Order: sequence, then structure tokens, then C-alpha cells
Amino acid sequence: MTADLPGAESADFPGSDSADLAGAESADLPGSDSADLPGSHSADLPGADSEAEWVRAVKILGAATEICLACHVRPDGDALGSMLAVTQALRARGAAGREPARVVASFGDSPFEIPRILRFLPGTDLLVPPDAFPERPQVMVTFDAASADRLGLLQASASAADELIVLDHHASNTRFGSVNLIDQAAAATAVLAFDLIGRLGVDISRDIALGLYAGLVTDTGSFRYSNTSARVHELAALLLRTGIEPGAVAHELWDRSPFGFLALLGAALGRARLEPAAAAGHGLVWTTVTQDDRAAHGLPFEVAESVIDVVRRTDEADVAVVLKEDDQGCWQASARSKGAVDVGRACVALGGGGHRLAAGFTARGTAAEVIATLRNQLAVKGEGEAGGSGAAAGR
Ligand code: 5GP
Ligand code: MN
Repeated sequence: MTADLPGAESADFPGSDSADLAGAESADLPGSDSADLPGSHSADLPGADSEAEWVRAVKILGAATEICLACHVRPDGDALGSMLAVTQALRARGAAGREPARVVASFGDSPFEIPRILRFLPGTDLLVPPDAFPERPQVMVTFDAASADRLGLLQASASAADELIVLDHHASNTRFGSVNLIDQAAAATAVLAFDLIGRLGVDISRDIALGLYAGLVTDTGSFRYSNTSARVHELAALLLRTGIEPGAVAHELWDRSPFGFLALLGAALGRARLEPAAAAGHGLVWTTVTQDDRAAHGLPFEVAESVIDVVRRTDEADVAVVLKEDDQGCWQASARSKGAVDVGRACVALGGGGHRLAAGFTARGTAAEVIATLRNQLAVKGEGEAGGSGAAAGR
């Protein structure tokens, strides 16, 4: 169903008047897109990609007979939501007098499982497992992946693709595409996906809006993180006008888990450690979620994802870390900062990636060993790291 919203490119939104609104307040807001209307891309911002890259992307997508989409492994709401929105937009694209392109979407996890909390998203039925993904795509588009290795099993397809369009907002993005649509000022990849859909001339249907909205609320922590800008709220308003229900989305994403999660959370919080002297005196709080914690209640890996949201509340620590043991026995680390410390830099140094305030990496060894290497990285002061500026964008 298509709501009668104008195409994303149109300024026919309470945003025709938003230029004066936004112009006044947001110029001094870090990470905000100033007078940028929803539907206009941010190519004119410092660090954003050029108009020419967008034009090339649209041309490539317009000419393609096969488009293969991939998001990062263990997808979150931004990765999967953005990809499903664009998947549906490409399928809906009016192909006047022309065969529509074949569209394939996947992510490179084995086993291939859609995270439970994201199964409410429309379009999951369009996903194929990575072994059904073309080995040499004509055109491939990646979502929310800061580097090629984040594509997991689909990394080889990305290397072999004739054209690789990278859509992302991570500061740590390695620009591994032939076309790089990367804007670290964007609050979420969903913002860039929205821009792309507008440029493809596809209306924002309710189903497309749901994917984009899931991305927006995931990466802004439901409009709480510092990457929440006027444009984020303007885009959210536009998406809500398609009829999606924010309460229902929030319930699916954050307000449900199996009963066993309570025991897992209790165990993880019970062994949290506070190290006030760590991170150059800004403080570190950390804990683990082990395979055993999950096995005791038959819980999948993804239930461990929300533990960081409780741990990061700790007033005494700028940095919060949760080491989550995956089914292969690797630690998947989630790190968060309140602003004084650049956890993105520390995680990149450990082979991971992310943003200044939210980042992650993968490691082997005992939890104590992994924390020791991280502790060393956090002790190194990076450029611009001093005391609690908190100005950078969130995840
Ligand atoms: P989360 O802790 O929510 O899984 O991830 C926070 C941020 O760090 C996200 O932007 C995510 O993409 C990034 N991130 C998390 N784990 C990894 C990792 O193992 N490698 C890389 N490159 N980025 C990661
Ligand atoms: Mn994201």
C-alpha cells in the first residue's frame, strides 16, 4: 500500500517552512543537517559525499538488470530496516516499458537467521540466504557496513561485483565501494536510504516507512542520543504520516524478550566491574554475557544485545562495555561512551569499527584478556579526546 505522500524528493512536507525553522536553530547543532529538508541529501555537508556520487549511483541502479543488496552481519534495525526499505522500493519502482531489475537481498550470517526482534519488519519474505546470493553481482549495494569484512559470507560477492554501491554513515568506513555514499553526519543509514529512495522516484509506502523508521529509532536510541537532530524528527514525522505506529515499533524492538532474559540480565549485571581509573580516569564499566548464560534458558545470541543499554547507565564510568560470547565462542564486544572517550577509535585499533560514541569489535581469548587489550587502547588518548565534549554523533 502506498500512502499518498509525495516522492521523497519533494519538499511538499511541513518542511517547506522548515527551512526557516531548522536554519535558525540547527546551524550550531553538531551532527544536524541544518536547513536540509527530508528528501534532500546532504552532499553539501563537510565530509559528505559529492552530488556526482549520488548521480552515478542512481544511474547505475537505473541501468541494472540485477541488483543485489546486503547489510552487515547480525543486522540491527538500521542495517536490515534500511536494506528492506530499499529492496521494496526497487521492487516497486515503476519500470515504464522496461523489465524491472531482479532484486536479491541478504546478509552473510551462517546460520542465516533473521533476528527475532526484527521479524515484524515488512519485506523479510524477500530475503534469501547467503548461499542463494550471486557470486558475481552486476550491481551490489551494501547497507550500514563500515568495511567489507562486516559483510561476512557476502564479502566475496562484494569484491567480485561489477559495481559496488556503499551506503553508510560510519566514521570508520573504509570506502570499499566503486561508489561511496557515506555521510557520517547522518544519524542512521536509514537517512541515506530515504534519500536514495527519493532519488529513485519511489513514493514512501507504509511498508518502506516502517523499515526506515526502525533504522532511525534504532540508531538514535529512540531519539535520545546526541545524533538526534531536527532533521531526524522531520524525517520521523514524514514516515509516521504513512500510518506506521511508533508504539508498536518500540514494543517490538525494545519491550519484549523471553522470561529467561531476566535471569541472563541478572547474571550479567551481577558480575559487572567498575574501574574508575580506566579510560584515562574517565572510568570503565564492563561485564560479560556468556554462552552458558544463554544456554541455561535456551536463548539466542541476540538477546544479549540489549544488556549494554543497562550497563551504560552507570554514572561513574564514561565507557561501558559488554562482551557477548557468540555461538562460535568469540567475544562480540559492544562499547559505548558518554563523550569523553572515542570508543570508535579504540575499537578500530582492535580490528572493529563504529562511531565515536558506539562501537564494537570481535575478539578471542578470555574475557579478562580481551578487556586488558581494550583497557590499553582506552588509556591511549586520541586526537580531540579530553574531557566530556559529547558533541559527536551517536551510532
Ligand atoms: P553494537 O554494539 O550495537 O553491536 O554496535 C555499535 C556500533 O559498532 C555499530 O555501528 C556497529 O556497526 C559497530 N560494530 C559493532 N561490532 C563491530 C565489529 O565487530 N566490527 C565492526 N567493524 N564494527 C562493529
Ligand atoms: Mn547504523
